[in-house]
This record gives sequence, structure tokens and C-alpha cells, in this order.
Amino acid sequence: MCGVFGIENNDKAASAVFTGLLNLQHRGQEAAGTAVYNCSSKTLRGCVGAGNVLNVFNNNAAATAISGNCAIGHVRYATSGKSSLQNAQPFIFNTKSGFIALAHNGNIYNDKQIAARLQKSGAIFAHTSDSEHIMHLVEREKGSLIEALPKALAKINGAYALIFIQDGVMTGVRDPYGIRPLVLGKLGKSYILASESVAIEMSGGEVLRDIAPGEIIAIEKGKIKKSFIFERKKNYAPCIFEQIYFASPASKVCGKTVAKARMEMGKLLARQMKDIKADVVMPVPDSGVFAALGFAKEAKIPFDMGLVRNHYMGRSFITPDQKVRENIVRIKLLPIKEKIKGKRIILIDDSLVRGTTSGKIMRLMKSCGAKEIHFALSAPPVISPCFYGIDTPTKKELIAHNMTTAQIAKFIGASNVNFITLPNLIKAAQGTKCKTFCAACFSGKYPTGIKI
Ligand code: SF4
Repeated sequence: MCGVFGIENNDKAASAVFTGLLNLQHRGQEAAGTAVYNCSSKTLRGCVGAGNVLNVFNNNAAATAISGNCAIGHVRYATSGKSSLQNAQPFIFNTKSGFIALAHNGNIYNDKQIAARLQKSGAIFAHTSDSEHIMHLVEREKGSLIEALPKALAKINGAYALIFIQDGVMTGVRDPYGIRPLVLGKLGKSYILASESVAIEMSGGEVLRDIAPGEIIAIEKGKIKKSFIFERKKNYAPCIFEQIYFASPASKVCGKTVAKARMEMGKLLARQMKDIKADVVMPVPDSGVFAALGFAKEAKIPFDMGLVRNHYMGRSFITPDQKVRENIVRIKLLPIKEKIKGKRIILIDDSLVRGTTSGKIMRLMKSCGAKEIHFALSAPPVISPCFYGIDTPTKKELIAHNMTTAQIAKFIGASNVNFITLPNLIKAAQGTKCKTFCAACFSGKYPTGIKI
């Protein structure tokens, strides 16, 4: 997924990026970094490191001390290229028109072909991430950055939210379907671009609007220099997984608070499961909490926390290595035995992707004496891989692609498994700003026309 943040016209740009990235930490914990442009010295300097934002910025005191007025930052969760320091962003490129920094959230589906064509024509890559190839495409076009971008991006099939800085100009771009999010905000005389509204608000800023699908916006010295739609598709398709899992509950997506959308998912799940009798509704923390609250309220069943999250562990799903993921799962959830023992439990989680964690959670709860576990998910069965930025690369990794619901229940050791239906999920996610979504991982229908 990754998170991006940018601020311009601000004398403390580097430290503003630090605050912004802290509030986007949930979007990626493998690497973080910043690139800062100083309008007086006309220099662009960067600092990146492996690990979470605090590690990177504390270990590189220079990161927040780089003086400058325009800065971008990035938190990384690898979907393309190895999870290594080599791919930590922002990338800084020395181009024909000077130094340019880039932070990218998303994934380029046709990247292999693009990379092969670029290498054939003599390109040498410094990274193994698709983000670098975007810049190579831009460099091969004539004109300024905003003139070259539409022509370069026309060659890409995928999802992206991009922030560039060049000569003190901050440029934001969102893909033509709006799959990946990008929000515009204002803080005093500065403009901010961020993956989520919460990063703008927690920086003390005000959220202005979403960057539109297919929009390019260039901002300099507190003024919007240019904003235009370079390409717009009929089907606006923001990723519905943002509301289910990725976005902070405190963010607004599609004009609706994510917490509210998750509570509505829980409410609709409760209506689907009205025949199931239980003593208590419990979430798998943290991402199941709001759906469980919505479920409990609708079903008039007490809500309780039988599992407590170890907050010193990362989010297991967004760690790229399966072995690391498995170890983290074992120590990230702490059961409270007396809340679980002898209970018929409706256990709510956000989604069932690989099934890595669910079997372990069932075993954990049974070892604490759970009588029945009715497992409910605020996502439909994930049957198709995501090519737009979530790490589910092949069908064979997806449990719901390989098993029926009954088989899944048996496999993970639940009394039964209940998925929210896709129409109900869409109903819950819809807000004032959007009614349609990318839901390809549940439907197999990819907005950009990918056929598998
Ligand atoms: S395929 Fe799924 S996870 Fe990927 S962008 Fe679409 S809804 Fe989001």
C-alpha cells in the first residue's frame, strides 16, 4: 500500500513530513524517508532508512533537521521490488531538468513489460521497484514534468498516487480510476498532499478535497499553479479495502469516516447472521473493532474484548515475508481467558486473505475454553489477487479461492464462517463522495481491464 505525504511553502517542511508520516505509519512499516527542497540554496536532499518512521527519523537525526521549504515523505510496504533499503522512498533522480524527488503509493501491473522496454533502450536501474520506471517514462517525454506526465502515464496499467518535488514545486497525481487515495489539505500558507485525511488533520491542517481521479496538481509558494484532469475513466474505482482494513478509522474515505463505514459493515453482517445465537461479540483487534461494535449494537449482544493486541508488534498482514508474518501472529494477540471461557462467541475480523492468522486465533481461543466461535468477516471472500498495491500475488495463496465456506470453517477450526456480501459491503462503504469502488479481489472484475 504505502503512504505518501508532502508539504510545500513551509519553513519546517522536514519536521512536518515526520508528523505526517507518523500518522500514516499503519500503511507500511518496512521503510520510511523524506526528501526536502531548500528554496534558498536550491538543493534537494533526502534521507531514507529501513523500519518504521520513529526508527528511521530517530536514527537519522538529519532527517528532521534538513532545512527546506518543500518536502515529501513515504512509508513503504513492498508490493513491487524487494523489501530493502535500496527501495526505500522518496527516490531522488538527477534528470535532464534537474533533481526530482518522487514518492509513490500503488502498483504498476504492466511493469515487467515497461522495465524490459526501458532496459532494451539502455536504461540502467538503481532500484528494483516499479516507481523508478515511472520516472524513466517521464524522462523520455518532451516538456516540463506536468507536460510529460500525461504522456508517460498513458503507458501504465495500474494504480498510483504520486507526489513529486522539483525546484520547490510539489506535484500530485492520482490514477485515472482513483484506485489509490490522495487528499489535498491546507495548513496556514502551505498546501499538503497525503494518502489519508488523518495525516492532514493531525498535522493541524484542514482537509480541502480528494485529488480527483486522473488529476495532476502543481503547487508552489502556497498557490495552486495548475490543476487539470489528464485522463478520467467513467468508472471511479477507489479501493474498497481502504475502508475494510488499510485506512485509519479516523480518516474520511469517500466522504465518510472509516470508523462509521466499518460499523455499518458490522450492522449489515449482524442482519445476515440474525439466526446465530451467541453470548458475546468480540473483535480481532484492531481492525475488527468498529465492525464488532456495529454488529453488537445491531444484534443487541454484549460487546467485549477477549483478545488484546500487543501494540509493540506491527500489523502482520503488511509484512512481506511469510515466515516473519507467522512469528508475529503468535505474539501479537493476547487472550483474556475469563472473557472467553465457556462463551458462544461471534468473532469479527476484517478479512480472510491467506488464512494465516485465523486458524491460530481459533486455536488460541479454544485453548482458553471458547464454547463456540462463529467467525464473521467484514469483507467478502477474497478470490482474486490484487494487482494494485496489496500483497496477494497469486490465487493459490487465497484461501477462499481454494475452499468453500464450510471447508474454510473446518480448516481453521471455527463453528462456522460468515462473510459480508459484496452488495452489503458496498452499501456500507458508500459515502457522499463515491458510490462505486474497485472490489476486484472479491469479484475478479478489475477496473483497468486486467484479465486473468
Ligand atoms: S483488487 Fe481489492 S485490494 Fe486491490 S485495489 Fe481493488 S479492492 Fe483494493
